[in-house]
Amino acid sequence: MNLKEIAAQLATPVLLNDYVAYGDVAAAIETADGTIYTGISIDTACSLGHCAEHSAVSEMLKHGEYRIKAVVAVDSKGNAMSPCGRCRELMSQLAEENKHARIEVRNGIFKTLEELLPFDWKTTAEEQR
Ligand SMILES: [Zn+2]
Repeated sequence: MNLKEIAAQLATPVLLNDYVAYGDVAAAIETADGTIYTGISIDTACSLGHCAEHSAVSEMLKHGEYRIKAVVAVDSKGNAMSPCGRCRELMSQLAEENKHARIEVRNGIFKTLEELLPFDWKTTAEEQR
C-alpha cells in the first residue's frame, strides 16, 4: 500500500455533534527512516481543530522522528490536497532537510516543500548574515 492509499483509508468524515467533525482529511508522512505516521483533521466550533498534517507531525514527534521524506493529505474521496501554509511552515521548521520532502499537491502532481515555500524566512535570514 502506498502513502496515499494509507491516508485514504483514514479519510472518513465523522460528525460527532453540532460542534465537532473529524476525519474529513487524512494525512500520511513517510520519514527519512522509512516509518509512516498518519493523522486526521479535526474541525470544531471556535476554530479549535487542526489539520491532518499537523496531527501526523505530532504522531511522528511522539516517536522521536522529525525528518520528512514524503507527505500526502487526502480528502474523503481520496484526492490529494496541498498542505495549508501553517502546515508547510510547521514541517519546514522541524528540520532543514524537510525542504526536500516530496509532497503530492494534486493527484499525481508532486512538489518539494521548498517549492511550496519560496523565499523561506529562515533561509533569507541566513543569507543576510
Ligand atoms: Zn494545515
